[in-house]
Parts: sequence; C-alpha cells; structure tokens
Amino acid sequence: MMELTTPVQYVKGIGPRVAEVLAGKGISTVEDLLYYLPFRYEDRLNPRGLGELRPGEMATVIAEVRGSGLFRTRRAGKDIFQMTAGQGRSKLTCLWFHGRYLMGKFQPGQLVALYGKVEENTWGRGGLQIIQPQFEILGENGEGEAADRAAQSLEVGRIVPIYESAANGKLTSRWFRRIIHSVLENLPEVAESIPAPICERMALIPRRQAFWQAHWPEAGESLAKLQAARTPGHRRLIFEELFFLELGLELKRRKQRTHPGISFELNDRVRQAIKRILPFHPTAAQKKVLKEIASDMQQPFPMRRLLQGDVGSGKTIVALEAAIIAIENGYQVALMAPTEILATQHYLSARRILEHAGYRILLLTGSMEQDRKRDLRRHIARGDAQLVIGTHALIQETVEFANIGLVIVDEQHRFGVIQRFKLMRKASESQVEVSYEPHCTPDGATARRRKLSSAPAEPDTLVMTATPIPRTLALTIYGDLDSSVLDELPPGRSPVITQRVPDERAAEVWDFVRKEAAAGHQTYVVYPVIEENEEREVKAAIQMYNKLRREILPGLRIGLLHGRLEAEEKDAVMRRFQKGEVDVLVSTTVIEVGVDVPNASVMVIEHAEMFGLAQLHQLRGRIGRGPAQSYCILMTGTKVSEEAEQRLQAMLGTSDGFKIAELDLELRGPGEFFGTRQAGMPSLRVANIVRDRDLLELAKKEAAALLADSNLEVPKPDLARAFGHLRSHWNRRYGLVEVG
Ligand code: ADP
Ligand code: MG
Repeated sequence: MMELTTPVQYVKGIGPRVAEVLAGKGISTVEDLLYYLPFRYEDRLNPRGLGELRPGEMATVIAEVRGSGLFRTRRAGKDIFQMTAGQGRSKLTCLWFHGRYLMGKFQPGQLVALYGKVEENTWGRGGLQIIQPQFEILGENGEGEAADRAAQSLEVGRIVPIYESAANGKLTSRWFRRIIHSVLENLPEVAESIPAPICERMALIPRRQAFWQAHWPEAGESLAKLQAARTPGHRRLIFEELFFLELGLELKRRKQRTHPGISFELNDRVRQAIKRILPFHPTAAQKKVLKEIASDMQQPFPMRRLLQGDVGSGKTIVALEAAIIAIENGYQVALMAPTEILATQHYLSARRILEHAGYRILLLTGSMEQDRKRDLRRHIARGDAQLVIGTHALIQETVEFANIGLVIVDEQHRFGVIQRFKLMRKASESQVEVSYEPHCTPDGATARRRKLSSAPAEPDTLVMTATPIPRTLALTIYGDLDSSVLDELPPGRSPVITQRVPDERAAEVWDFVRKEAAAGHQTYVVYPVIEENEEREVKAAIQMYNKLRREILPGLRIGLLHGRLEAEEKDAVMRRFQKGEVDVLVSTTVIEVGVDVPNASVMVIEHAEMFGLAQLHQLRGRIGRGPAQSYCILMTGTKVSEEAEQRLQAMLGTSDGFKIAELDLELRGPGEFFGTRQAGMPSLRVANIVRDRDLLELAKKEAAALLADSNLEVPKPDLARAFGHLRSHWNRRYGLVEVG
C-alpha cells in the first residue's frame, strides 16, 4: 500500500532511471512528490476566446493547429518556427526563435493549449502573436480511446496544474500531472502532523485534502488565489512547513541552553572598568543592547547573540564593553574581522579606547612575518594576550587560546551565513582543545572525543552585522540566535542628503567636490569596476583616477584604492586618507565594509545603477560620520533597468537600513539575498518567506506557545506526533543542523 514514506521508485510509472532523476530534484518519497507543487495554473475550463485577447496580457488559450513551418530571417539569420492556431475565424500566430527542433511537432487539426504574453503581430500581417508560448498538445499520444479520454480529462475542461519539467524536459508537466494525480488517488488517509488545537485556531484543512486542492483545484477556485498560493490548500501546506521550521528552531534554542557555558560576573569592579573606558555617553540603544549582552554573559549557558546595527550605529564600543566583562573575569577575547583593513581598524580603536585599561591587545594579520606570527601565537596560547584581533580565517585556523571566554565576530556584510555557524563551532572546539593541551598542536580528533566525554564550557559568541536582517530572515536562518538591535544613531549627526544626478551633469558634481575639498572635507568616488573593458562602456576606477588627477580635479590630492593593490599599498592609501592627506579617494567597493573616516562627507557613486541595494546602503554609510553635512551623489549612466530604478528610488526615499534590507530581500528573493545561494537557508519547498511572512509570524507564535505550554518530558500524543514528524523531516526538509 502506498504511504507518504514510500520511495518513488515503487510508484507505478516510475522506474529506477526516473527515480534517479527525481532524487536529483530532492524528490525521493511519495511525500516529496506531493510537495512538488505546480508553479502556475491554467484555466482550461473557461479558456479565453482568441477574439477577446488584448495585447499585453498573459493568457491561456486553447485553439486548433492550422499550419506550421520554419523560416529564416535575413537580418539575424535565425531559424524561426511559426505555428498558426485558430478558433473559427480568429487566428493567433506563435513564434519560436531557433525553433528548428519543433519541426514536425504540430499537425493541423490538433488541439493545443498555449500560454504566454499576447502582443501585436510584428512579423506577419497584423493580428496577434505570442512569442515562445508554453504549449501543450492536447490528447497527443494514441494510448487507445478510453485511456486517452481519461488522460485528457486531466488536460482540459478544468483548472490544470502546470509543473516545472525535469530531466531537460523529458519529465514534462503532463507527466507530473498524471503521476501526482494517480498518487493522490491511491493514497489512503494521511495522518495529521500539527496538533489539533492549532489546526483549529488556524482553520487548517486536513493534509490530504490540502494536497488534492493544491494540485487539482476544484472548478470554482479563484485563479488569482491559486497563483498567489492563498487557497486553503496552499495555506495549510505553507503553514505546516513554517510551523515545523519554527518548532525545530525553538527546540534548538532550548537545547543550546543546556550546554555548559561561562557565568561571567558583573560586579562593581567590572562596571567601573567599563565606565572608565567610555569616550562618550552611550546612546539609549547602546545601553539597552549592552544590558542584553551582559545579562546573557551572566547566564550559565553560552551566549549566541546577533548584534544588528546599521553602519555607524556604534557597534564597536558595545563589543569592547562586552570584551571588558570577559577580560575582567580573567578570560581571553577574540575579535575577528572579515578583512585586514578592518582588523587593523578595530585594533587601532581598541588600543585607543582601552588605552588606560592596561590590557594586552594583539593584532594578528596574514601579512605579518612568520616569526612574528609564531611569537604572537605563543603569547596567546600562554594567556598573555587578553584581546586578540585578526581576520576570521587567521584566528580560526591557527590560533589556540589559553582561556577563551568570548568570541566576537564582526561579520559585516561580506560574511556568509555558513561560515558563521562554522566559526561558532570552531570557537567551542578551540576551547576544548586548548583547555586540555595548551602548548602543543592539538589533534582535532582527540579533542573532539574529549569534548564528548566531559563537555567543557563553551565561550560566548557575539556576531555583529551591519546588514540589518529583515525580520523574516531573523525568524528563519538566524532563528536560533538571540538578537539585539542598535536602532539609533549616535547624536550630532545630520542625515545624509542623497541626490541622483545623470552623467550629463557630471561637471556640476566635480565642481561640488572641489568646493567641499576647499572647505576641508574629503570625498569618496566609487566605481563598479577596476579597469575599463572593451565590451561594456563603463567608467572604471583606474582610468577615472588618472582623468580626475590630470584633467578634472588638478590641484587636489587624489588617491586610488582597489582590490588588486597589494595589502601594503592599500593600507598606505587608506592611512593617508584617514589622516586627511588625500582629498579624493577613488575606489571600488573595497571601501564598502566598515571604514571609518569621519571627515569624509561626500560619497559619489558612478554608475549607481550597477550596484546592489545593500551595497549602495553600505557605501552611503561611509559618510555622515562627522559633524559636517554629508552628501551621497548617485550618478547614473544612460541604461537604467526597471529594477535598478527601484533600487535608486529606495536610496532616495529612505536611510533606514531595515527598510532597505526588506526591500532588497523583496527585489532579489530569499535565495540571492546573501550572495551565495542557499547559504544556510532552509530549503523551503512550498513556503516563500517573503510572500508568506504573515504565516511565518503565526507559525513562530504557535510553535513557541506549544513548547511553552507543554510538558516536553512526557509529551501528550498530539505533541509526540509533532515531534515525530519533526524528527523525520528536519534534516532533509530544512537542511539545517540536527535537532535534539
Ligand atoms: P559601526 O556600528 O558601523 O561599527 P562604529 O562603532 O564604528 O559604528 O561607530 C561609528 C562612529 O560613531 C565612531 O566614530 C564612534 O566613535 C562613534 N560613536 C559610537 N557611539 C557613540 C556615542 N554614543 N556617542 C558619540 N559617538 C559615538
Ligand atoms: Mg564597525
């Protein structure tokens, strides 16, 4: 008998070869197959008459093949396949470029379903056309009369699900339709997975019914709701997926609370030490956030906290305050930055701020001499250094600590999610290793074995990020971290004035830069590429640097910074800019991350249309850090796409990093948001965290309430079933780390 857990190769019509193809798509059981939802639906019950079609609309039509053939265009020498379909006297032209493969495909008299964007016919003599329509020849294979009619009833006369094809088109939408239909027919009752009270509160329909409705909607179902995934069937499946994600994350958080950590003491002496270093009055947000961090650090389990704060919100001082708590308790602190420039900058500000505290602060960078590095590492392993600052890679790969208590990860924007998890784990391992063998190279394997036998205290972890994380992501990928938000900028800053200027008016921009320089203010000028390239007409950093120096801004001191310079050169330029010895710094996005020069008050971004929204926001964050009024000038070339236009409008409309992050997520979609596809993203099948954020919030609330109100030691049957479901689905479905 078929069950949800039945492997797909036992489904009638699926052999081992096809099963393998499906496995590649993450479909290995009947249940997986049922989560393969249509990506759209066609109304073939009430298809549009050809006569009613209007140019510009997306439409499904069912019509008869009248004729077809291949012709070549003189202009591009392309093969174009044309098929004419008709209904009575109305006609529709369908065109496929490079359509040779379609020769012989259509026979006059066949019924075809066509879907695509209707346009005025540009190739023939008036009338309407669809270019590259999706199509299906209805009732094609001669499988015998009866079988044919039964199969046809899945293709016409109803709302028909359209599936993404697989195996380079060999497994067609039609194939999925038949397989999934037959699976649903043969599947007996499906056990409920969500506790009954929640189903009731959320008005969820039963699982089996939801599968039916999402694949084979009833005749009266609204096409708009289907496309928006808002039918009761969709809602049920989406909620279920999000509910178990949130339940798993919540359990993971709870489990973390059972790991042994360090209870740092926060007594008057520590408080005094913190007070002594503060160079300014902390903002209310900084106070609130420090309180959250300090209270975590006092707990007997390891802190895992995310500190989110827009660029310039003052995260550094908060991190150093946390460091003082650990150091005053006799522990070491590691502060890791994504680049050497940033590590160095952190080192310099730590030195400045902690100057009178008497701590040993070390900077460890890749470009140091081997001997020097070895020396430093020995100090760290002996416990001589209290605060160790370096790049992520360097610290996590080569440094052993005598007694690490706090790991601060400045992840900024470049740092992916996966690395973050690795670092945390690594941090706890290094603690394990050094606590047993402080002076020799640890053997990872034995260290790990020891960890199992007597789990030592894990250090606390504080991850700082300058990319505000949209709430939907905070609820999913970062769902197992506690989160603190610095939602206030330090006082005395006036908002940056942002303006968009087309390239034709560049001369005005350079005049402005000259005036600002005369007033003693510095300017960044950012380009999307380092060097000019013959294929694209894009202004580039190196060429513009020369042009600005010689022709446009002679007399000003101009510097050049880009990723291909040697580390030393980069540092030298940066240092000169920092000291005010350079008026205009021409750069690529290497300055995007964390650079702090308060006297720089103008940010000119050329070809702003080519930058991502998060990048633009980061770049703008480099200015507005001092007392002078700051200006961000977005210069645009001639070709600005619609999406780029939206990004520019967002930049002009708001400076709120959270709003920008939400918009960025919307524009790019969850997969692309972090640059690396799927970096730690749960692989959701039916839910989309942007589209379904309302259900995500509800799922989180229900999951948390369920665990809060239940006896987890002796779960009631409902809950036990939910846990069972979670256990069997977590690893495969959500692709996250194992759960307890
Ligand atoms: P980010 O969050 O981007 O890392 P920083 O920690 O670099 O921000 O702080 C940005 C600037 O604001 C620094 O020059 C810092 O000295 C200053 N700053 C931070 N907090 C305050 C405060 N409470 N009052 C005044 N200036 C502050
Ligand atoms: Mg910073």
